[in-house]
Amino acid sequence: MSLSAAEARALDAADPLRLCRDRFVLPKGLIYLDGNSLGALPRATVARQREVVEEEWGEELIRSWNSRFWIEAPQRIGAKIAALIGAKPHEVIVADSVSVNLFKLIVAAASLAPDRPVLLSEAGNFHTDLHVASGAAELAKLRLEIVERDAIERRLDAETNLLLLTHVHFKAGTRFDMAEMTKRATAVGARTLWDLSHSAGAMPLDLNAAGAELAVGCGYKYLNGGPGAPAFLYVAEHLQERLLSPLRGWMGHAAPFAFTDDYIPAPGIARFLAGTPPILSLAALESGVDAFAGVDMEIIWAKSIKLFDTFAALVKERCAGHGLLCISPRAPEQRGSHISFRHPHAFELCQALIADNVIGDFRAPDVIRFGLTPLYLGYEDLWQATERLHEILESGRWREPRFAVRGKVT
Ligand SMILES: *Cc1c(COP(=O)(O)O)cnc(C)c1O
Repeated sequence: MSLSAAEARALDAADPLRLCRDRFVLPKGLIYLDGNSLGALPRATVARQREVVEEEWGEELIRSWNSRFWIEAPQRIGAKIAALIGAKPHEVIVADSVSVNLFKLIVAAASLAPDRPVLLSEAGNFHTDLHVASGAAELAKLRLEIVERDAIERRLDAETNLLLLTHVHFKAGTRFDMAEMTKRATAVGARTLWDLSHSAGAMPLDLNAAGAELAVGCGYKYLNGGPGAPAFLYVAEHLQERLLSPLRGWMGHAAPFAFTDDYIPAPGIARFLAGTPPILSLAALESGVDAFAGVDMEIIWAKSIKLFDTFAALVKERCAGHGLLCISPRAPEQRGSHISFRHPHAFELCQALIADNVIGDFRAPDVIRFGLTPLYLGYEDLWQATERLHEILESGRWREPRFAVRGKVT
């Protein structure tokens, strides 16, 4: 066998990240392989939320905007995220959702090159990205073109205004070479907007070195900011003064408390704020980002690679002959931190696993996906998960009618 339970335990004992697991609340007996969809709860979040609610809101009330630095939270947390993604501290700000930030940046970027009519994206990109792109394109008078992954480079030309790509694909986990694709777009005079939802907090990123100009990313996945956590957006320094957000709220004004009728954009990244920041949610996101304190992203990624290889080998060995097909690339530089399999009954398998306290997720029509989050996942977890999957497949228990009931959010 490729890995015994004892060997898995030994790997956990030697894991440089093993103490990070204690930073999270993980229900006993549960194997959580969905941190790429909703990151686990950091212990510090519980105490911090209590403090923000009881002291900052409850006692200090409105004074906390200044005395507890609420007003700076979007920038302060943005700077912490910047450190994880290879950006300068003032190039990232936390605001709104991924969907809304995509909208703001697509419309803002479009006006930089009014003679270029095409917004280009990938077929099968995460649907919210394409939906937002369609609306933003309509307003910005762009033509949205959605092409297959292998046709993107060919389609890039003098018509391309903006290339909208998700760095790591939500389903298969395939990853674009950010520097290379940015270079190709730049070569024809187009800009690129990266969606980092499945990469920020999962792997080392260097947006500046890759020449990235625009990006958005998610707060509730690998950054562990809690359900519906605010998202972030990145605008390279040299572009900030040239872009205007289409959502011109007072928080993005140069002087929000001057209460003037005219809109004067705040200097720098702050102009991408719209309304009042959600302080409780921001505090939870900050606790989530702080869970990375003292941890080198290279160590996280090295463990992700090892977790992936371990799980792929275990599934191959223990679940052979049951029709599971790994659709994630094997080469680490071509993938993210989740592993996906195709199976005609992926939905039922997923439900049967959840009933057995192994939480992964199903992505229609036939993909079962497992998030590998090095901060709080161990090798023994993967060993256990494979054993349960093996048992479900061997026994055929997934055929029980209760596992075929659809209609839930997973
Ligand atoms: C998770 C995810 C989103 C989420 O968008 P929200 O506006 O936060 O709901 C968007 N794009 C991609 C690629 C994602 O993976």
